[in-house]
Amino acid sequence: MIKSDRVTTTTCPYCGVGCTLQLHVKDDFIYKVTSPFDSPVNHGNLCVKGRFGYDFVYHPKRITTPLVRRYLLEGKPKPEGREQVFAVSVDGKPIPDSKISNDWDWLETDWDTALNFVADNLTRIYKREGSDAMAVYCCAKATNEDNYLLQKMYRALFRTNNVDHCTRLCHAGSVVALQQAVGSSAMSNTASQVVMNDVFIVTGSNTSENHPIIALQMKEAVQKHGAKMIVIDPRRIDLVDMAEMWLPLKPGTNVPVFTAMAYVIVEENLVNHDFINDRTEGYTEFLSSLETFTPEYAEEISGVPAEDIRKAARLYANAKNAAIYWGMGISQLSHGTASALALINLAFLTGHIGRDGTGLNPLRGQNNVQGASDMGAMPFHYPGYMRVDNPENRAKWEKTWNIEEGGLSLKLGLTTTEILSHAHEGGIRALYIMGENPMMSEPNLNETRKHMQHLEFLVAQDIFINESGAFADVFLPATPFAEKDGTFSNTDRRVQRVRAAQPPRGQARPDWQILCDLALRLESRLGLATAHWTYSNPEEILREMASVNSDYAGITYDRIDKVGLIYPVPTMDHPGTPTLFKESFPRGRGKFHQLEYIPVMEEPNDEYPFILTTGRLLEHWHGGTMTRNSALNEIYPEARVEIHPADAEIHGIRNGDPVKVQSRRGEIIVRATVTEKTTVGVVFLPWHFAEAAANLLTNDVLDPQAKIPEFKACAVQVFPARESDLPNPEAVVTRGRY
Ligand code: SF4
Repeated sequence: MIKSDRVTTTTCPYCGVGCTLQLHVKDDFIYKVTSPFDSPVNHGNLCVKGRFGYDFVYHPKRITTPLVRRYLLEGKPKPEGREQVFAVSVDGKPIPDSKISNDWDWLETDWDTALNFVADNLTRIYKREGSDAMAVYCCAKATNEDNYLLQKMYRALFRTNNVDHCTRLCHAGSVVALQQAVGSSAMSNTASQVVMNDVFIVTGSNTSENHPIIALQMKEAVQKHGAKMIVIDPRRIDLVDMAEMWLPLKPGTNVPVFTAMAYVIVEENLVNHDFINDRTEGYTEFLSSLETFTPEYAEEISGVPAEDIRKAARLYANAKNAAIYWGMGISQLSHGTASALALINLAFLTGHIGRDGTGLNPLRGQNNVQGASDMGAMPFHYPGYMRVDNPENRAKWEKTWNIEEGGLSLKLGLTTTEILSHAHEGGIRALYIMGENPMMSEPNLNETRKHMQHLEFLVAQDIFINESGAFADVFLPATPFAEKDGTFSNTDRRVQRVRAAQPPRGQARPDWQILCDLALRLESRLGLATAHWTYSNPEEILREMASVNSDYAGITYDRIDKVGLIYPVPTMDHPGTPTLFKESFPRGRGKFHQLEYIPVMEEPNDEYPFILTTGRLLEHWHGGTMTRNSALNEIYPEARVEIHPADAEIHGIRNGDPVKVQSRRGEIIVRATVTEKTTVGVVFLPWHFAEAAANLLTNDVLDPQAKIPEFKACAVQVFPARESDLPNPEAVVTRGRY
């Protein structure tokens, strides 16, 4: 039995549940992960990722030395052919017919050299082109402190709000809807409060795979507390087995189904009149918009029997305590905002919000997507969701950052997808990516690739050279969660500690240290001496942010040492706020919204007869930067497309057969899994696998309000393929020549 040198308590780097991890370290090597039974989030439970998915920290492909392209280091002009950079295999060898210039080679260097190249090139482009040419992707995997600093760097030094991160790609529709209807954008309750409900709806969320510990709590609510669960989802997800009802709607038909439930609640007078009178506005107008949304109309569009819609509406409305939990099946649509608003209307109609247990709960995806949003890693908001186009907000941050009056920009920034689509002459010229991977996470990757090639200068700050880092000019090696201190804010709004279990490997540095070092170099080149960039530890960074953002005002590292605190924590003696909206909504009254049904942008036809929907697997995480470089990849090593047995038979496809999945934008070859988990006419693909990237197929059409792409529905065809057509995962192109 191994005896640990130390056990470090920290927070899981994968999903938004935010489970507590104990990293057992021997000789600076994490050999085991456990969790304490008294953890308030996960009570000692961990999923396979938290328990076994940490060995990426030691993967030989991890980069621990700053890298600069040969052309930069040797002072040569930038070579043509950035598109060729990607045509290199994982072992660093050019693929046979690649014409890659060796000027694109990665060369190891020291931090001074690498940071000076970054500072020189960003300054050069900024002085030539101005603020609108600069953009940054913050990171939902990095700490609050890292994200706060990076958005501060771009706002304070480059005077731009072109700051965003992957919240745009997961829950932007939910965030916008909640802001419009209640004036806040986080979960109203903690996930563990699910057991306080007698009815709850789970929709657009494969919770067992995406938020496994929350799924356990949902199962406990059903099995131990007798709650009734209603699953509304196109797939026969694991939770269906213990649900009271399953409404298998066609992808993208959320608005008619939820609004038909509202129709039934009104028609049968199950509304909570007191709540509507006391706490909401817009009810009369909302009523007039319900007329067309009969359950029969919704059945015609969604395929869900009208009687089931009626039954679900009655169950939800008649409950003493009811809550709604939703995932990206609601938000990742060209009408994602409307989908979330339709759910919010249900809570207002019934008054199922503002008490322990009841409420509206978008389950946030990444470990710190809530925190990165709180820190202002978005184009429309400073930290604390303060609009950037409001001069009063601007003045507060100018004072905090010691910036001249009127120095910060009032102009709304570009979103992630817009940043790349503006990568051309006269648009975005320099991009800084901290920890994100747009070459896996953006829709329509063939277009994304062209945009990446059009960038003049790209910095990647990460732990691996992933599919996006392969386009970079300079690579800055950062530390993963196990080698840094800071905080993550989970989907419950619980701010928790992240603690280093071991020193950084090689020359890798924590993100916050890299950013401070770079910011000082930028300041001297830009002739500025304004914002404060010298911190002795990450807590000082958090306290600077909390001096303006009252939600975090009472949070110190001491206070969150054991179990974290759930914000809002407005004062140093405030105990935290597990349940929001008990007395009022941040915008005053909750606002009903009138909605109309807008179909998804691509309906199936003879040429493309299937709807493709995409999502995550239990064993993998997002673009796979961490999980595909861990032992988890051995458990689930290749992408598979799920197809219903009836469809498989028609197309002559057997379980395990190679198939080509083709959309109007691209094609991939994968094996088929023939399963009743998916419904007739719908195929499902996970998006973690670079060699069969689901986002080569997805549609880049955006929700006009939230600017979130329609990842959840596009039209595809599925053809039998040959075994020899299957991609070789070992040939995945990830590193550039190095
Ligand atoms: Fe980590 Fe999420 Fe699994 Fe918990 S449920 S161990 S936070 S991945």
